[in-house]
Amino acid sequence: ATREETLGFQTEVKQLLHLMINSLYSNREIFLRELISNAADACDKLRYAALDNDALYEGDSELRVEIEHDSDAGTVTVRDNGIGMSRDDVIANLGTIAKSGTAEFLQQLSGEQQKDANLIGQFGVGFYSSFIVADEVTVRTRKAGLAAGEGVEWRSAGEGEFTIGELEREAHGTEIVLHLKEDAKEFADDFRLQNLVRKYSDHIEVPVKMPRTETAKDDDGNEVEGSEVTTWETVNEATALWVRPKNEISDDEYKAFYKHVSHDFSDPLTWSHNKVEGKLEYTSLLYVPGRAPFDLYERDGARGVKLYVQRVFIMDDAEQFLPLYLRFIKGVLDTRDLSLNVSREILQQDPQVEKIKSALTKRSLDMLKKLSKDAETYQTFWNTFGSVLKEGPGEDPGNRENIAGLLRFSSTHTDSATQDQSLADYVERMKEGQQKIYYIVADGFNAAKSSPHLEIFRKKGIEVLLLSDRIDEWLMSHLTEFDGKSLTDVAKGELDLGDVEDEEEKKAQEETARDKEDLVKRVQEALGESVQEVKVTHRLTDSPACVVLPEHEMGFQMRRIMEAAGQ
Ligand code: ADP
Ligand code: MG
Repeated sequence: ATREETLGFQTEVKQLLHLMINSLYSNREIFLRELISNAADACDKLRYAALDNDALYEGDSELRVEIEHDSDAGTVTVRDNGIGMSRDDVIANLGTIAKSGTAEFLQQLSGEQQKDANLIGQFGVGFYSSFIVADEVTVRTRKAGLAAGEGVEWRSAGEGEFTIGELEREAHGTEIVLHLKEDAKEFADDFRLQNLVRKYSDHIEVPVKMPRTETAKDDDGNEVEGSEVTTWETVNEATALWVRPKNEISDDEYKAFYKHVSHDFSDPLTWSHNKVEGKLEYTSLLYVPGRAPFDLYERDGARGVKLYVQRVFIMDDAEQFLPLYLRFIKGVLDTRDLSLNVSREILQQDPQVEKIKSALTKRSLDMLKKLSKDAETYQTFWNTFGSVLKEGPGEDPGNRENIAGLLRFSSTHTDSATQDQSLADYVERMKEGQQKIYYIVADGFNAAKSSPHLEIFRKKGIEVLLLSDRIDEWLMSHLTEFDGKSLTDVAKGELDLGDVEDEEEKKAQEETARDKEDLVKRVQEALGESVQEVKVTHRLTDSPACVVLPEHEMGFQMRRIMEAAGQ
């Protein structure tokens, strides 16, 4: 390359490289999956760009990935004829981590966590995983549509810096050469590479090819010099996974495909693959991840599905097809109902999009319902994404009852901070005569659990849900009923235990109230303006007094959120 220049990696890249090399050693074969995944993405992007401008193919429209090795030199090469990169692209993509919040996240990791492959995997290990097996990586690339002279060569040993220079490159697309470390030379092997392609990249739609060289033999069986002919053989299945019939796809293939679309490192919890024909025509393959991406709560965090129209890749993260409270769902949508030149702007207005969104929402909720039959796996899901799903009843009133069935709570039934009780569980345990579902919202689990408001409920053996997530008060303001029973905050308004109270008790309470009229008056005078009313209560059995909010008053948690928002 000419006019070379050496630049430093962004600090985050240095940290990530260091962590990755240390934590992913035992998974190091995944480098190949990552490079093929990128090469396939690059082919998808070129096909998309060429919809408008055929010339971008530069006469070579047979998109493909090629893998070669040289066991003497100890190199593996992954090449594609996809979109390629300009100099600016290279610096941005192979020198920085663009995702917001990365620096904070990396800084928070403790020493122990740094060794945890799963945590590192949250970034999608991506291109940088090359450095787990290579001590020198060379990237040669040219963006489709640019002149041959605008090729770029990037080199790095994966330490602090990289070198970038200009390159004359006839072909568009990207070639990545890994100079394998001494202890990773095993990868420069035909058989090993073929196996890895089949294991990780069978489902990739573009063909992944490897060379086979044949030499002619003379009559005596000796190789004829100069007669070598190299043919490129397709090693993977090379059809889009979601197009294949369900019964022909193994779990391992579904999992491998998940890793490709989600850029996630670990297995999904479950998936749902559906072909729909009729008024709407689409195929969807949706996954529930096993762990949260680090940017789950970032405003601009990636969400949505990968969108294809008639098998042509259109865009990543098409967020119009799922509601916000299902933003953790990953997968692909392939439809005939949209035009190939659909844009994000058009998606916002197209009435078909709304219909598909509604269908995918139902599918996702169904998938979660099925998952909930497996209590242990569902708990993993709930602990990871439960507080996101709690946004559902407010965002999607049409599916409120379905979502309510998926919620899990802490409760006085277990008195444990683990949220593992469903509303249906609660209803099943309701006392005879009990008409309402009771809950309490507090700042923390312990505050909820030891609230004086619970005394009477504990005494009478009536279960109360213990809510303490930030979102809970918001959730309960939208969830007023389940299975025909109203949900009632025990810290608000008049306490009505329904028929669980008997007449005699009521009478006794009324009597006490009359006896204590003087006391109530004095307390009222002493507290003056700071309270609305002082009453005798039978909520309490041990504590002498408690503060109760009027029925329709905003709760403490909500007030604090509003205050923090400056209102
Ligand atoms: P991710 O694939 O999750 O975006 P990677 O680290 O794997 O992250 O890749 C970073 C970026 O580098 C990609 O998003 C892409 O823009 C670019 N890139 C990597 N490999 C290629 C390639 N073969 N062709 C074109 N661009 C590539
Ligand atoms: Mg990638």
